[in-house]
Amino acid sequence: MKYAQSCLRPAGTGYVMTKTSSPIPPDISAAFERQAARVVDRRRNYGLAERRADLARLSEVITANEAAIVAALAEDFDKPETEVILTEIIPVQQDIKHARRHLGRWMRPARAAPSLATFGTSARVRPEARGVCLIVAPWNYPFSLALGPLVSCLAAGNAAILKPSEMTPATSALIARLIAEAFPPDLVTVCEGAVEVSQALLALPFDHIFFTGSPAVGKIVMAAAAKTLASVTLELGGKSPTIIGPDADLKRAADWVVFGKFANAGQTCIAPDHLYVHASVKEEFTDLLRARIGKAFGDDGASPALASIVNAKHAERLGGLLTDARDKGAEVTLGGSRDGVRVAPTLLEAIMPEMEIDREEIFGPILPILPFEDLTQVIAQINARPKPLSLYIFDKDRSRIDRIIAETSSGSVGVNLTMIQFIHHGLPFGGVNNSGIGNAHGRYGFRAFSHERAVLSNYFSALPLIFPPYTGRVKRLIGLAKRVLG
Ligand code: NAD
Repeated sequence: MKYAQSCLRPAGTGYVMTKTSSPIPPDISAAFERQAARVVDRRRNYGLAERRADLARLSEVITANEAAIVAALAEDFDKPETEVILTEIIPVQQDIKHARRHLGRWMRPARAAPSLATFGTSARVRPEARGVCLIVAPWNYPFSLALGPLVSCLAAGNAAILKPSEMTPATSALIARLIAEAFPPDLVTVCEGAVEVSQALLALPFDHIFFTGSPAVGKIVMAAAAKTLASVTLELGGKSPTIIGPDADLKRAADWVVFGKFANAGQTCIAPDHLYVHASVKEEFTDLLRARIGKAFGDDGASPALASIVNAKHAERLGGLLTDARDKGAEVTLGGSRDGVRVAPTLLEAIMPEMEIDREEIFGPILPILPFEDLTQVIAQINARPKPLSLYIFDKDRSRIDRIIAETSSGSVGVNLTMIQFIHHGLPFGGVNNSGIGNAHGRYGFRAFSHERAVLSNYFSALPLIFPPYTGRVKRLIGLAKRVLG
């Protein structure tokens, strides 16, 4: 049971609504209450078989609708079919497969050995469903970043309300249809809409909120969660730096940087935001980058292999970043053109700290290149900014790589690669402070959506011997215990 001072009415489910400045639309509170009403029932009846069946159903509905998924993402921002398969469909299907395979082990309570003080007891940690969860998704990978968290949420035995991004309406509508086909609304339901819908949902007393989006909105989500003390996972963004060291395999580095920066037209939370390139290899590396971009996307960025920018507002934002940089002396060494929502892959040099592009998360196909000679200064610059979501290092010198890792902080690190830390099921995926709180993926995602409940059972604990009244005998025993336990 939850209790709150500002209780309007008991909902009959143990979930208590708190006062909000604006009324919650009845369909949204009804969707929540329908799920909340089944929490206890699900606690009783939602074991391994039921959860695996839910995941299988999600997988089936995705498989049956692959063409529709490709079409929706093409409609939303011309995302190439190959990228949809690679970055939207395969990751979710892999998440499902991995969770179905390992769920039995993840769900098993873990034993904890007793200490001297708890001798005579048995301890275990039970991962339990949190209850009703809210998943708020962004637009940049609108399918996989909505359904990936849902995989972990269902694996952990929860109900979910999913709020896809309004910026990708075709994918949002498709997700709503697929979820309605696959699940009853008291298990999973989709609430489509923009900020008002998101804020109405955030006013409800969810057990957990899993948010993926910008750090600015992440703060709004955390403030809303503070009102009900919902736990949160925040998957946020920021400027992920990439360092090209003097001994890097430059050709290989160019392959990975071009893949990481221009997949999804740079609209990727873990894309390399900007490059620090050692001065001794800068000319050779930028030539290789130019050649690799030309090979991948042609010279003008009109290639169907490059996605569009999600909408005119974001394309204009990128145009503004370029104009500001140019006005302040930046040099465009490749691309620089924009045709509506098509932005050509662009390389920028002569970057100065006063340029907006050096401060804001770029989130588009524009790559600033900053030459360096002294690694200490690069590390200082990285540490002067909010901790990034990812940090990439290209080098062969192990001690330099280790030094960069040791002296900086970021959600993840990629060494001689970009992006694919996201698809490694054994790794936690998340940021740190400004780039996020908590982790997703595989077992880490399961844990995010679970409450780890401590259960300690007494068999023959001797502690009652020291319960009050504190007689001389008890005091002697406590004195002995102090000497033994320290
Ligand atoms: P966003 O924060 O603008 O929106 C994300 C979601 O929040 C959307 O569903 C939107 O409707 C909702 N929202 C927007 N404003 C809101 C408000 N005031 N109150 C409540 N809800 C609100 O993010 P975006 O533009 O969709 O995505 C881009 C950002 O997300 C970038 O910063 C990127 O780095 C980050 N991102 C992070 C990850 C990750 O896994 N860490 C993944 C993808 C994107």
